[in-house]
Amino acid sequence: MKNLTRADCEALDRDDPLAPIRDRFDMREGVIYLDGNSLGPPPKDAAERVRRMVSDEWGAHLIGGWMQNGWMEMPLKLGDRLGRLIGAAPGQVAVVDTTSINLFKLLAAALRMRPDRRVILSVQENFPTDLYMIQGLIELLGNRHDLRLVPEAELTEHLDESVALVTLTQTNFKSGFVHDLADLTAKIQAVGALTLWDLAHSAGAFPVDLDAAGADFAVGCSYKYLNAGPGGPAFLYVAHKHQELAHQPLTGWLGHANPFEFSNDYQPADGIRRHVCSSPGVLGLVAFEAALDALEGVDMAAVREKSITLGDLFINLVEARCANHNFTLASPREANPTPPYGRGSQVSFAHDQGYAIIQALIARSVVGDFRAPNIMRFGFTPLHMRYIDVFDTVEHLAQVLGRREWDVEAYRERKAVT
Ligand SMILES: *Cc1c(COP(=O)(O)O)cnc(C)c1O
Repeated sequence: MKNLTRADCEALDRDDPLAPIRDRFDMREGVIYLDGNSLGPPPKDAAERVRRMVSDEWGAHLIGGWMQNGWMEMPLKLGDRLGRLIGAAPGQVAVVDTTSINLFKLLAAALRMRPDRRVILSVQENFPTDLYMIQGLIELLGNRHDLRLVPEAELTEHLDESVALVTLTQTNFKSGFVHDLADLTAKIQAVGALTLWDLAHSAGAFPVDLDAAGADFAVGCSYKYLNAGPGGPAFLYVAHKHQELAHQPLTGWLGHANPFEFSNDYQPADGIRRHVCSSPGVLGLVAFEAALDALEGVDMAAVREKSITLGDLFINLVEARCANHNFTLASPREANPTPPYGRGSQVSFAHDQGYAIIQALIARSVVGDFRAPNIMRFGFTPLHMRYIDVFDTVEHLAQVLGRREWDVEAYRERKAVT
């Protein structure tokens, strides 16, 4: 891609079939938001939908709302709708709990299905919560399992018949590298192991096809590319083929076959419902529904195409405009419209003053983020980002560097959330 001018970027925006989707989100004037990969912006009607739920459902119907407004059915109903975005046929996805809790539930379910195997295989680059949840579960199970952590690039060399389960985050949160989900699932299953995919930076970012890959289990969160709000309900996927044998350990009453019989003995519900543990968090689910509505009719292949163009444009402009500032591309340069995707929907650059540079950009209302030790992370979220946003970001970045705006004491002190 040649280096485009601002006028070229304006022309790209005029021709962009996804441009009207931006209007579905509450985007603030004067802010360039490159952190939709960490917390998506609110869908425009999320506030009104939550207000209406409180007033017209909760207020008007009180306890009757559970039936009249279908609150109890929301985890599975919204799961089926989310399925369209992650390639899951109905009946395999529930919108419940948090990503970490869902990891715990499905890790435990998967280990029970491979009682003779002792190894959980993952990669050193995995997201910490995934590793921490595995460590906690291993301890709970009496330290009978080993967590084997290997470099991302060597994963397949470590597949053998001792492996019960391979847990991977499809998209590396620092580099944006995307594992080939179908190819790896096949290789993992060839040694008799199960797969548990974390789709945190994948769902809503590009097409994911769990069923076509024959994946076993998956989890993911809703507040990144899915825009369901801070701490919004997460999701889990259990393939139909495993639903009879998959038993998760958080056996709450709403995963019971007949919760309102109030029996003293737990008996799991059939299908995906047994993975619901508690009363649904309806306020969060209402925001989640607004987020799914904002994605309604959006072609994920078109989202992928635009995300590649935005990312390529950013890389080219940064390398052209910031050439003398020691930026090292920390993401795959290649990005493909179909798997293997290579780069996902973010671009990272490594720089030893990365934290301060990000702070200086935020002071200019250009919002990216930072991941220790030295990664500047820029998310490309085609639903609400414009090509001119990329152009202007690099303009701001060049000025921040040229004027050494990052070189102030206040920008060196790390905040609690980076
Ligand atoms: C963001 C993220 C999570 C979030 O976990 P929570 O339990 O929802 O806080 C989990 N895994 C990955 C890979 C993530 O990027």
